[in-house]
Amino acid sequence: MAKKQFKSESKKLMNLMINSIYTNSEIFLRELISNASDAIDKLYYKSLTDNSIKIDKKDLAITISRDEEKRTLTISDNGIGMSEEELESDLGTIAKSGSENFKNDNEHKKDIDIIGQFGVGFYSAFMVAKDIKVISKKYGSKDAYMWESSGVDGYTVTKANKDSYGTDVILTLKDDTDDATYSDYLHEYELNNLIKKYSNYITYPIKMEVTKHQPKEGTKDEYEDIKEMETINDMVPIWKRSKVSDDEYNTFYKDKFNDYNNPLKVIKMNAEGQVSFKALLFIPSKAPMDFYTKEYEKGLQLYSNGVLIMDKCSDLLPDYYSFVKGVVDSEDLSLNISRETLQQDKRVKLIAQNIENKIHKELTNMLNEDRTNYEKFFDEFGIQIKYGVYDSWGINKDKLQDLLLFYSSKDKKYTTLKEYVERKKEGQKKIYYVCGETLDKVDNLPSVEEYKDKDIEVLYCTNYMDEFVMQTLHSYNDLDIVNIGSDQADLSTEEEKKALEQKNKDNKTLLDDMKKYINDVSEVKFTNKLKNSPVSLTSTGSVTIEMEKVINAMPTDQNISAVKVLEINENHPIAKYLMDLEKNKNDKELERISKILYEEARLIEGLPIENPTELTNLICDEIAK
Ligand code: ADP
Repeated sequence: MAKKQFKSESKKLMNLMINSIYTNSEIFLRELISNASDAIDKLYYKSLTDNSIKIDKKDLAITISRDEEKRTLTISDNGIGMSEEELESDLGTIAKSGSENFKNDNEHKKDIDIIGQFGVGFYSAFMVAKDIKVISKKYGSKDAYMWESSGVDGYTVTKANKDSYGTDVILTLKDDTDDATYSDYLHEYELNNLIKKYSNYITYPIKMEVTKHQPKEGTKDEYEDIKEMETINDMVPIWKRSKVSDDEYNTFYKDKFNDYNNPLKVIKMNAEGQVSFKALLFIPSKAPMDFYTKEYEKGLQLYSNGVLIMDKCSDLLPDYYSFVKGVVDSEDLSLNISRETLQQDKRVKLIAQNIENKIHKELTNMLNEDRTNYEKFFDEFGIQIKYGVYDSWGINKDKLQDLLLFYSSKDKKYTTLKEYVERKKEGQKKIYYVCGETLDKVDNLPSVEEYKDKDIEVLYCTNYMDEFVMQTLHSYNDLDIVNIGSDQADLSTEEEKKALEQKNKDNKTLLDDMKKYINDVSEVKFTNKLKNSPVSLTSTGSVTIEMEKVINAMPTDQNISAVKVLEINENHPIAKYLMDLEKNKNDKELERISKILYEEARLIEGLPIENPTELTNLICDEIAK
C-alpha cells in the first residue's frame, strides 16, 4: 500500500527525533501517558453531558505492557479513541503548538531544548522506537484503525481489529547501541521509576504487570515470583489532598528534594483568581551543600494539572528566595510551555508574584511568632536576604529590610532594624553600626567605647557583606544608618566639638609632623571619642576600612585602599607625651612613637602589618631606651 507523506514540518521534527541522541529521551513515556490521560479526560467530560455515553469512572485506566522478545512497549488507554480521519489529521501532522516552536528553532542546541522543554508530544516516541503502531477505536464506533509508521518516509492507516474503544500505542524499540540501551524501557524497574518520576500524579491509574517475590503457599522458607497488575502512580498529589499529616509532608519533602532533615517550614498555597494554582513550598532547615556554589540551581517543580512540565522552573522564584523548594501545579498552564515562553507568560508572572508575596508573609510571621526558628533560618539563609537588599542597586531593599537581623551591642543577640528603632534613646537621630570580623572583636573596638558609655545601641556587623548592605540601605524610617567610624557619626555637643577643634589647631605642627612620619594616613588628629584606648583608625570618603578588607581578600587583582585617619585619644597619657616630644624637639622619638601608634591602630582594626620586622625593632628600641 502506498505510504502517505508527512507534512514537511512534521518531517523535519521526525528527523530530529529519529536521529536524536538526546539524553532525556525517557520523556517519551510521559508524553504518551499524558496523551492517554487527555483522551480519557475527553471521554469522561463528554459522559457528564451526554447520557448515551455509559462509562464507569472506576474502569478508566492507562495500561503499560511489554514484550521483551518482540521488543515492544504498549501504552493503552480506554479514552475517547481516534477515528480514521483523526488518526490522519492528529498523527499525520505535528501538533500546532509544537510546530510553531519548532520553526523558530534552527540551531541544534535549541532543538535539544525543544525536545526537553516543549514536550513535543507523540513524535517524541520516535526517539526510542523504530516503528510505531497506533490502533484506535473511537468511542461509539464499530470500526478500529491502525496508523503505522517507521519513520520519515511516511505512514499508513489501515483497518484493524480492536474489541474495546480507546487506543493502543505500540512501540517497537530501536536496537541497542553503545550509546543508548533502549531495551531499558522494557524493564519493569526502569518503567516503574519513569512513571513515578514523571507521571505519578496523573489522575487515572497507570497499571503495569509487576513481579512480586513472596512466600510460596504451603511451604516454609520457599519464595516464588508472582506477576500481578498493579497501579504504579499515586494519582492524587499530596498538594491536592486535604488531610495531610506533618509527617507526610516531611517525608514527601525529604524524598523529593533529597534532604536528610525535615523542612523548617511548610507553606501551602491554594490560589484562585486570575490564575488558579496550588503550591507546596518548603524552607529547608539547612542550606544544601552546594547552596553557596555556582552549581546550585534555584527553581520550583512545575506541574500542569498533575503532569510534570519542568523540574526547576527558575522564573517562579526571585534570587533572594532561591533557597525555597517546592512544587507548583496549575491547570491554567499547558504542557507545551517552554523556558522562553514561560518568561513572557502572564500567568507564570502572576504565579511568581503570588509565591513571592506568600514567602514574604510567612517569613515575617515566623520572625514575629517563632523567633527561635527564624534565627535558625537567618543563620542558614540570611546572606541570601542581604544579597537581595544590595543586589541591583537596592531595588528590593524596601521589601526585604525588615527581614534582616543584626547583632547588637545591647546583648550581643540578634535584633531587627524595627526593634532597634523602637528601643533607641529619645532624640537619637541615627542608626549606628560598626563592622568587624567577630562579635568579640567588634565589641572591643575602641570606637565602640563611647557608645557604650553613652548607652547608645550599635549594630554589630560581622558578615563581609554587611558594610555593603548598610550602605545600600542608607536609611531606615527616615533615620540615617551610619558607621560609627565615619565622619557622620559624632556624638559630641557643639561645645565639645569646638574645644576639640581648638586643640587640633593648637597642635597643628605636632600632628603634621606625625603625618609626615606615617605615609599611609591622610590626617592625624586628636579625638574625644575614645575612652580607654590610646588610638583608633577611621576613614574618610566612600571606601571604609571594612570594605578595603573585604575587597582585598577577594581572589581578584583588584586592590583598594581606604583614606585613613589616625585618631589619638586626647585624654590618654600618650597625648601629653606626644606634645612634650614636640615641645622638646625630640624628632627621632616622635617618629618612632608615631609609627608604633599607627601600627597599633591597624592591629586593632584587623588590618595586616606591612612590615613586622620594622615594628618589632621600633618597639625594642623604645623599651631599651
Ligand atoms: P498534543 O498532545 O500536544 O496535542 P501530540 O502530538 O501528542 O500533541 O498528539 C496529537 C494529537 O493526537 C492529540 O491532540 C490527540 O488529539 C491525538 N492523540 C494522541 N494520542 C492519543 C490517544 N492516546 N488517544 C486519543 N487521541 C490521541
